[in-house]
Amino acid sequence: MDIKQITVAGSGVLGSQIAFQAAYKGFQVAVYDINDEVLEKSKNRMKQLEAFYQRDLDATPEELQEVYNRLFYSTNLGKATEKADLVIEAIPEVVQIKRDFYQELAKVAPKHTIFATNSSTLLPSQFAEATGRPEKFLALHFANEIWKNNTAEIMKHQTTEEQVFQTVIAFAKSIGMVALPIQKEQPGYVLNSLLVPLLESAEMLLVNEVAEIETIDKAWMIGTGAPLGPFAMLDVIGITTAYNIVKGKAEATGNPAYIKLSHLLKTNYIDHGKLGRSTGEGFYKYPNPSFIQPDFLKN
Ligand code: NAD
Repeated sequence: MDIKQITVAGSGVLGSQIAFQAAYKGFQVAVYDINDEVLEKSKNRMKQLEAFYQRDLDATPEELQEVYNRLFYSTNLGKATEKADLVIEAIPEVVQIKRDFYQELAKVAPKHTIFATNSSTLLPSQFAEATGRPEKFLALHFANEIWKNNTAEIMKHQTTEEQVFQTVIAFAKSIGMVALPIQKEQPGYVLNSLLVPLLESAEMLLVNEVAEIETIDKAWMIGTGAPLGPFAMLDVIGITTAYNIVKGKAEATGNPAYIKLSHLLKTNYIDHGKLGRSTGEGFYKYPNPSFIQPDFLKN
């Protein structure tokens, strides 16, 4: 099946980016959200994306103007999906909100329409039944700033049809993504399945006083040739996100190591406004962190 027309449901941070990118690549895109006020915000968000497309992709003013001719906005789910071959859901990461949404969507979307969730942490099988068409449902997960961080993790659940999987892989490529097919459900997809344990191991080495931040990063950078060590990566992700994850684990498990780590992140960093790259300081000081100095990897 060929995807020609798509609907993006939820026009927040990711929804606006997905809609803009698909329209930039020539697709007709309906953008759906719960009220006109939010849709107006989405239009502003998209306007702000123009500068990034010019800077990162050399987009011309004419190309950017064309994007708007392919976008259509609606707060009526039936209208927004009446011509959709694919609906990409990017609404809040709350199980009940998503489940209710899929039940409504199932009633109004055409029978042939494929549904895809952009959820970062929830699994498609949690909503497969609510969609009323589990075989035409899967995950299509983008990264923030999709025009340059252009991975698309496409993940089946147990009863996703192979043909649907292949169609969505082809669609992801056609909007400029590097498609990463994932054959089975996996919390965290591929990227976070690799990244989260790495970052957590680094944090544990620190909190258990095994080694200092720079030592840990140097070991990773020299040993693997990576341009950033785990603590430099955490500064990019943001220490608040790291703290929320660790705090959640501390509360869920009562594990003293997680409790100590969450305390360290809070008192040494968050309470001092050191949230990472975005605030100019986290584990390192920016714009000239020590790990970019020429002698950092030499001794
Ligand atoms: P966001 O809060 O910026 O946007 C959510 C949008 O959904 C809002 O515009 C809201 O009005 C709308 N919404 C709320 N209820 C709705 C409903 N019932 N129907 C339609 N729209 C509704 O959220 P976000 O950061 O764009 O995240 C959306 C999804 O994308 C989540 O599942 C998240 O896990 C995933 N995601 C986020 C990122 C990220 O970096 N922000 C990255 C990858 C994936």
